[in-house]
Amino acid sequence: MARSARTPGKAAPAATPTHALPSYLDPAHLGPWGIYLQQVDRVTPYLGPLARWVETLKRPKRALIVDVPIELDNGTIAHFEGYRVQHNTSRGPGKGGVRFHQDVTLSEVMALSAWMSVKNAAVNVPYGGAKGGVRVDPRTLSRGELERMTRRYTSEIGIIIGPTKDIPAPDVNTNEKVMAWMMDTYSMNEGQTATGVVTGKPIALGGSLGRREATGRGVFTVGTEAAAQIGLKIEGARVAVQGFGNVGGIAARLFAEAGALVVAVQDHTGGIARDKGLDVPRLLEHVAQTGGVAGFKGSDTLKPGEFWGCKCDILIPAALEGQITRDNAGRIKARMVIEGANGPTTPEADDILQDKGVLVVPDVIANAGGVTVSYFEWVQDFSSFFWSEDEINQRLVRIMKEAFTGIWQVAQEHKVSLRTATFIVACRRILLARDLRGLYP
Ligand code: NAD
Repeated sequence: MARSARTPGKAAPAATPTHALPSYLDPAHLGPWGIYLQQVDRVTPYLGPLARWVETLKRPKRALIVDVPIELDNGTIAHFEGYRVQHNTSRGPGKGGVRFHQDVTLSEVMALSAWMSVKNAAVNVPYGGAKGGVRVDPRTLSRGELERMTRRYTSEIGIIIGPTKDIPAPDVNTNEKVMAWMMDTYSMNEGQTATGVVTGKPIALGGSLGRREATGRGVFTVGTEAAAQIGLKIEGARVAVQGFGNVGGIAARLFAEAGALVVAVQDHTGGIARDKGLDVPRLLEHVAQTGGVAGFKGSDTLKPGEFWGCKCDILIPAALEGQITRDNAGRIKARMVIEGANGPTTPEADDILQDKGVLVVPDVIANAGGVTVSYFEWVQDFSSFFWSEDEINQRLVRIMKEAFTGIWQVAQEHKVSLRTATFIVACRRILLARDLRGLYP
């Protein structure tokens, strides 16, 4: 009992690795995983006695690499590499999205799974952290090929996922259609319909109202809270958004509805701007029809790199990781960066922004709205009782506000960035669970 009664804040001997780290765990390889390791190092001094468990955070619990062979429409066989990483399950089953992208690597999926552990603990939903991905450009696949690839990937990772083991969800280039295929494949293999194996499903298959908009709504909610703390009014604020998909598109819409001016948007097709504010609903329609923001009528085209230096109050990176670097951070004019994407800011850029007095609301709290409503979806699937959209949005806003307030207080108390404060809150929760559970055997 003495062990479980320990509280963070008191000195503890640092955890020591028992042997050299394998190369993919080496912090010198500063990919996304290296960045995550640096973030853990920054938080370790604030963990008190729980620091003896910190090595737990630096090693994924389980990482599965799978070969995903499919027959293409032309009769040839293509092989794709897929991953599912369960970073930590101390607080509950693994939970995190699945990404289809040509640049997916094991290191990236490991980092994304670790950020899920932190995020889930930050908003205090009862999950560990996991993430999956397939290295493929889904735009090169036909609908049939995409379905076969999704189903084969699901079968391959089926040995470690499940409603009480690890619950995937959408991420970059995956959506509710992909989740429906995943749910069906898992259910066929299990011989029973298991709606709770994935979240982000279509409503007709046990999906939750409000899930599609949840991440963007969370970005807007914590963004509004953070803006209030620095005396920035949303009405009339100039907002720039990178990535105009599920997260960026919804966040832009909600900021525009609250009276902000969305002055610049960049996606994989290019950058556009309008000083008086873009017509966001029309831009959403344009993207739905053409696949990107390029060529939107009534907007100016931004030259490559121009986006980062645009005149704005709020910058929302909502595309991929590693976008704000030491090369462009100095040019950012925003007062506040809200990280819709996972890992969009490198640690060097983080420092540059902090020195400039730019408030960074980190991914691990800013984009936690998605997993929060995924949690609601999972709970609803288990109880087979579904809530109204109002109920969901109210609960989402309450959880996001409470989490942000707690993190803001920790940041003030320790005079640290919001990122470090979020890691402090989350890592304490994860390692307390680890400490209470102890080691088996
Ligand atoms: P999405 O596929 O819906 O949209 C991705 C957007 O990024 C698109 O607009 C695309 O054009 C843009 N993009 C891609 N490559 C780009 C590049 N090189 N330069 C500029 N823009 C580029 O994906 P999403 O679901 O909106 O996810 C975006 C980010 O948010 C990812 O980092 C994801 O991990 C994170 N996230 C998503 C959710 C969710 O619920 N969807 C939850 C938490 C975090």
